[in-house]
Amino acid sequence: MASVKMTKYVDSHAHAYEYDEAYISGLKDSYIIISVSDDLESSKRTLMLAKEHDFLKPCIGIHPWRIEDANREALKEIEKLLDKMDIPCIGEVGLDRKFVPQTFELQLRVFGTFLTLAKETDAILNLHAAGAWDDVANLVLKHDVTKAIFHWFTGSKETMQKLQEAGFYISFNVAAIIQKKHADLLHFADLRRVLTESDGPYEYRGEKLTTDRIPQLIDFMSTKLKIDRSILLSYIQENVMSFFR
Ligand SMILES: [Zn+2]
Repeated sequence: MASVKMTKYVDSHAHAYEYDEAYISGLKDSYIIISVSDDLESSKRTLMLAKEHDFLKPCIGIHPWRIEDANREALKEIEKLLDKMDIPCIGEVGLDRKFVPQTFELQLRVFGTFLTLAKETDAILNLHAAGAWDDVANLVLKHDVTKAIFHWFTGSKETMQKLQEAGFYISFNVAAIIQKKHADLLHFADLRRVLTESDGPYEYRGEKLTTDRIPQLIDFMSTKLKIDRSILLSYIQENVMSFFR
């Protein structure tokens, strides 16, 4: 009998190291999760988790909100860990002018290091760019990075189109259900460049964002885009598999 390939839900950006073990195990049959880290400690935890669960794809790095932890030793250690990864992925990294503008100069230096590392190791970048969409887009293009996911994209439609044309992925968050600015960008989405995410566990305007809400996001997107749910799901799975085949 021919095997039937099951379409899975994709969470292209979750902080799974913050989930409890039982919750993660409950997701294993229906999800592919790209699991990001925030600092050296969580990077190690993410790598451990990914060893136990093969539906969980690890990314390691230092979040712009944790930039004070980005000392030389931590960066060296992340570089070593990255060298050992089968499919190197760096995230959550990037720039943030919206929530932590006071550390922007330091963020720029650290992000520069990660961009160089991404180029050297051919890593995927899982990017944070709150209030700094054009800064991050321009730097990624300038560094000739080939694989990147722009998480919870809320930049301009022009920037989004430019990124899609360059082959990068735009990740839509469960928050689209209540965040009009984010949802409106769906109309400019190229289905061959779209991903879905929760950023879980995270709270946004009273909404608890977690991986198990991805099916709700798929419902929302399929209505908004007037496309069949299963077709949308297969596009997204195909997109994520371009990285993690
Ligand atoms: Zn995040």
